[in-house]
Amino acid sequence: SELELICSGCGIGIQTEDKTAAGYAPLNSVVEREYPVCQRCYRIKHYNEVAPVALNNEGFQKILSDIGKRNALVVKVVDLFDFAGSWVKDIKKYVGQNPILLVANKADLLPRSTNWERVENWLSYEVKKQGVEVEQVFLVSAKKRVEIEHVKAAIEAKVGTRDVYVVGTANVGKSTLINGLLQLFGEEDGAELTTSRYPGTTLSTIRIDLPNHEGSIIDTPGIMTRHRLTDLVSPKGVRDITPEEYINPKTYQLNDKQSLFLGGLARVDYVEGPKQGFTVYCANQLNVHRTKLENADELYDKHLGTLLTPPYEGEENPLLHKLYAHSFTIKSGHPQDIVISGIGWITLRGQHFTTVKVHAPKGVDVHIRRALI
Ligand code: GDP
Repeated sequence: SELELICSGCGIGIQTEDKTAAGYAPLNSVVEREYPVCQRCYRIKHYNEVAPVALNNEGFQKILSDIGKRNALVVKVVDLFDFAGSWVKDIKKYVGQNPILLVANKADLLPRSTNWERVENWLSYEVKKQGVEVEQVFLVSAKKRVEIEHVKAAIEAKVGTRDVYVVGTANVGKSTLINGLLQLFGEEDGAELTTSRYPGTTLSTIRIDLPNHEGSIIDTPGIMTRHRLTDLVSPKGVRDITPEEYINPKTYQLNDKQSLFLGGLARVDYVEGPKQGFTVYCANQLNVHRTKLENADELYDKHLGTLLTPPYEGEENPLLHKLYAHSFTIKSGHPQDIVISGIGWITLRGQHFTTVKVHAPKGVDVHIRRALI
């Protein structure tokens, strides 16, 4: 047909011919709806299921590189639960000279007792370390609509006649934030962007007019990454490792030669040091299993997929069935986090010289950072 229809959920061009290709929607649904959605978005929204559709990385690069050629305001979204994992490393290359507002999302997941001022300081420090200048930093919960009015106010103050580009890796909450902002800007009956728990829901840019402004707000496709556990596990596994609410940190008093399993996805061995607390920040529903270091290999071989889940038998990426070791020493001084991208982190108070070995699937980012909390 002559008419080009766009899915109001993910921005992909809608087609009614090929059920297995991106953008498919049944013809009748397209005719009936004022804001048509593709079948993929329909399913995500109504059944919480997702069909993988590939969009190659060049597609992302092209869309993002165009931002630097325009006069734009950039809203960069990161996930507080996985800060380094959700940080777009090439952000400067993409956005050029355009000003950046940094939105650190999912603040609702941090423990109730969190000292917010400390987290803000931590963020400014980490951003500086990345060598990127941002105009302002916001700590928000897009989902709970907490503090996003400050983001709206900053956009209003800075946008002028420009467009606002919302960028970030897949799954940081861009669509959720945009839905919240549009509500604040007074968008009444428009289309809602599809939001979902699975990475890579937004397939191409979606442009929505900003009410009472000349420019638009533009949802860019979430940059796909391969270094977060959330990129590798099945949808069922994603549910096990994604926090749904305030994290309740759990402290394990460990002697050396003891190990902690985070499901079957990661293992932390306490190799050397005095008895001390290891505080685990991960999804409350995730199984954490303590064992003797000398039994850890056998436990893993015997019980992966049964006692230690995720991964689940038969439905997971084979990459998840083998763990690789990373060694770290932590000197006494500041509290430090051992971060395993996508599943959380473990805090050590930094009172002792400590040696740990962290095991995780190949490619998963593991690092030590100054403690967030
Ligand atoms: P996008 O891929 O960056 O557009 O991310 P989405 O907006 O689709 O959100 C990805 C997932 O993160 C969904 O499961 C959202 O419900 C969840 N999410 C988004 N914002 C928040 C938030 O503020 N807090 C929490 N806990 N989850 C959020």
